[in-house]
Amino acid sequence: MLAKMYKEYAVQRTFKRIGIMGGSFNPIHIGHLVTAEEAFSQFDLDIIIFIPSGQPPHKEPRKFAPAEDRYLMTVIATASNPHFIVSRIEIDRKGPSYTVDTLKELRKIYSSETEIYFITGADAILEILTWKTPEILAEHCEFIAATRPGYSLEKFKELHLLNENAKKLPKVHFMEVPALAISSTDIRKRLRNGQPIKYLVPEGVEHYLYKSQLYTTENYGS
Ligand code: NAP
Repeated sequence: MLAKMYKEYAVQRTFKRIGIMGGSFNPIHIGHLVTAEEAFSQFDLDIIIFIPSGQPPHKEPRKFAPAEDRYLMTVIATASNPHFIVSRIEIDRKGPSYTVDTLKELRKIYSSETEIYFITGADAILEILTWKTPEILAEHCEFIAATRPGYSLEKFKELHLLNENAKKLPKVHFMEVPALAISSTDIRKRLRNGQPIKYLVPEGVEHYLYKSQLYTTENYGS
């Protein structure tokens, strides 16, 4: 049954609409997976490519678990979903993981006809005007900003990020995801305090976190 499903999926790999799930995934949790699945369904995407940041831009490297651990946990978390894949593109690239560089690399693989949606947290997208070359980002993709229920869009309005006529600004869509009540910050805190993380992360990730003692022996992030 599984073999047949993956075989059918493999022969359809001419993607017209792809979702890029960008994040530091420090660590990945159920909220991220629900976000990706929701975007896949709402935006009629063909595939979701998870791209863990190698060296998150504008942030101190010591605040993050090693890139290889964050990558492996992302692979474990997504393995059972046929339309989720994980890319090492930012893990293997040296220097800060600028999104614009990732999009340029993806454009070498996918033609200009492929529509790219970059999915990440709304708070990260709020900073988009400080990202490297936002006007070039706008040429390559549209953004899906995942929000928690009750999230205020006021700051987006102030930045004119909702202005359809602002041609050089990236286009931003909003998607409310109740499961984003789960956060990586809370999971790191729970691990430090010895509180349960069951059902907040996939089972395999839970085991990886306990085996590796990530976030308990080192203070990666607050
Ligand atoms: P962050 O500042 O750590 O995250 C901001 C908020 O967004 C947090 O609440 C976070 O929750 C949430 N979030 C992050 N990724 C998410 C996702 N894929 N789906 C749903 N919620 C998400 O942001 P970050 O993770 O470092 O960066 C996010 C993305 O933006 C990355 O791909 C990064 O490379 C890119 N970025 C690029 C530039 C640039 O090119 N100059 C600058 C900054 C960020 P959790 O903590 O629970 O994940």
